[in-house]
Order: sequence, then structure tokens, then C-alpha cells
Amino acid sequence: MAKRAIYLDNAATTRCDADIAAVVHRMLTENYGNPSSLHTMGFAAEKAMSAASAQLAAALRCQPEEILFTSGATEANNLALIGATAARRRRLNGIVVSPLEHASVIETAKWLGENGFETRLVPDGRTDPEAYAALVDEKTALVSCMLVNNETGAINDVAAIAEAVKRKNPQTLVHCDSVQAFGKLPIDLRRLPVDLLSVSAHKIYGPKGVGALFIRKGVRILPLLHGGSQGRGLRPGTENTALIAGFGLAAEMAVERLESRRAHAAMLNERLRCGLNEIDGVVFNSPENSIPFILNVSFPGLRSETLLHFLEARGIYVSSGSACTGGAKSHVLAGLGLSSDRIDSALRLSFSHDVQPEDIDETIAALREASATLARVRQTSNRKERNS
Ligand code: PMP
Repeated sequence: MAKRAIYLDNAATTRCDADIAAVVHRMLTENYGNPSSLHTMGFAAEKAMSAASAQLAAALRCQPEEILFTSGATEANNLALIGATAARRRRLNGIVVSPLEHASVIETAKWLGENGFETRLVPDGRTDPEAYAALVDEKTALVSCMLVNNETGAINDVAAIAEAVKRKNPQTLVHCDSVQAFGKLPIDLRRLPVDLLSVSAHKIYGPKGVGALFIRKGVRILPLLHGGSQGRGLRPGTENTALIAGFGLAAEMAVERLESRRAHAAMLNERLRCGLNEIDGVVFNSPENSIPFILNVSFPGLRSETLLHFLEARGIYVSSGSACTGGAKSHVLAGLGLSSDRIDSALRLSFSHDVQPEDIDETIAALREASATLARVRQTSNRKERNS
């Protein structure tokens, strides 16, 4: 029998839960009406979608009418940034983000900066409330800050950031990318003073291609797409009812199982840290205040990609910390001011409830072997270079 994969790339995406996949399948093959249709099959589809809104709302502690389904968090982030600034452009023209944000926020903010807005970047890898507030002025339309960083797992104090921003300018909207926090940290929108918040299903054992944007009641944004009344006119097009229903169940399960999943991840994280600590030169990039689901670690002197493929050959799947596109350096680790050697040798290992302690032991053993043999290869090639 083929060896079971040791999948440690759950921050990239998760395996869809079988019960969730069954809901998606049922929607596609049985409850397949168009939710806008005025007959019973349309109503049935509409009912499933409303149920999913209610499940999301219960998970995030908001109202179902404040949930707008999208094709994922990339779209939700784009809609939040572009839609909110477009609605304010006559009076306000500034946007503030950290360079440590996900590309779907940072690139959108840069695009806005090239299209009539003033984009300000929080300097020096800082994510403290004062650093954000210092960049807010009377013209700032929106501040965006993620709750958990996708590369390091670092938790930001978004409540304090939002309060500091609103103190400086009560008109400034605050958006929060909560993709890596949802299901890992409790999110209570009755207490978290943000106006917009993005989540995605495929990070919580739901299907890919569906996400949601929370839009607080009374907050006006403009749509990216035009041509239909679906999604309250903010997101026209026939809704993806199957994926939406799957997302609803994923959200419900994520909240119900948050504590047990968190405890399991903490156990795995601790085991991995202890094992990796024994390897010469290893340095951890995830700060103290991180979720236990992500561990970012560097092996100075080695290359992330070499390590990644070494592990892959042994059925272990991780991410190069650089999450590189065409070999580009991690903008997050670079933004934190880490050395090139540390950035180039970073791996991100991220856990799920499927991962067992033995999987961690196997990963530690493989990384120990990689560290010894790849280091030896490096020394040999250095010697060869010196000899030639
Ligand atoms: N934000 C963060 C923090 C993420 O980790 C991701 C997924 N990599 C996204 C946004 C984009 O989500 P999606 O894949 O649903 O577009």
C-alpha cells in the first residue's frame, strides 16, 4: 500500500472534510435550483444559502445580512479595499497597510496607489497600534490589517489597532484579513471593532473557491462587478450555492472544534520545536505570539527549495517559507528584516487534526538527515570549488 502523505501545508490549503464534500455533492446533484428562481426548487436553494449565511454569522458573531459570499478571500480582500475606497473617494483618498499583508491586500493597495489613492506602508515590520495610527490622517479612507500572518502565524492585536485608528479618525474604515485566524482563534465581531473582515473556506476543511466578506451594517461599499441583483447588488452573478453550503458547514464545525483542534496543533508544534531544537543552526521565525498551527523555521546554509524537495521525496509536504513565485524572496520575512540566509532557508510547516505525533517524529528525522547530508554535500562542493 502506498505510504500515507504527511501533509504539513495546511496554511496553504486543507483536505476537504468528507461530510462537507457530501453537502457540496448533494447541492450539485439534488438541490441544484437557481436561488433567484421563483419556484420551489429556487426556494430550496435559497434556503440552503440562507442557512449558510446563518452558520457563518454564528461563527463570527455577526448578523446573517452582514455576510456576503465571494469566490474566496482574494476577491473578498479586493472588494473590501477597492469597494470601500471607491465609495469614499470624493472625501477621503488614503489607505494604510503593512508590507507583511497577504499579496491580495498589498498588491491591491499598491494598485490603488497607482490609481489616484495615497497608499502608506507601515514601516520596519511593525504591527503595533501606534505604527498604524501614526499614518492615519483626516484623509484616510481605510486601514487593512490581518489577524494572523499566513507565513509566520504571528497574531496581530487588531482590536487595539482598530481602536487606535478610530481614535485618530472615526471615519476611517478598518478591514481585517482573517483567513488564517478563522477556526484557529475565536472571532467575535460584537467586540472586534472592524468594519470589514475576510474569510475563506479552503483553510478550514471546506471547498476551494468560496469565501466571504463581512460588511458591518451601515458601511457602504461599491461593487467590483455589475449586472445583477444577487448579493444585494454587491456581488452579481448566480451564487455558487454548493460551495456556499459547504462553507456554512465548515464554519460551524470550525467553531465547534476550535478548542480540540487548537490543543492538538499546540501538542504537534511543541513536539516539532523540541525535535528541531536539536538540529544545529536551526532558528525559528514564528514569534512567541503565534497561533500553534504554523511554525516557520530556517536552516541557515541550506536552501528552502532543496529542503522542500528532500522532504517531498519522503512523502512529507511543507511550504518554502518564501511562498515564492518564481524564486522571489518572502516579502514577509524580508519585511521583518531577517537576513537573506534566513529567508532563503525558511520552511513553513502547518498542521491539521489529521497530523499525528509520529508524522512529526518522521519529519524531524527527515530534517535531521537533510541537515546532515545536504550540509555534507555543500561542504563537498565547497571543497571541489576550492580544489578546482
Ligand atoms: N489572505 C491570507 C492571509 C491567505 O493566507 C490567503 C490564502 N493563501 C488569502 C488571503 C487568499 O485566500 P483565497 O485562496 O481564498 O483567495
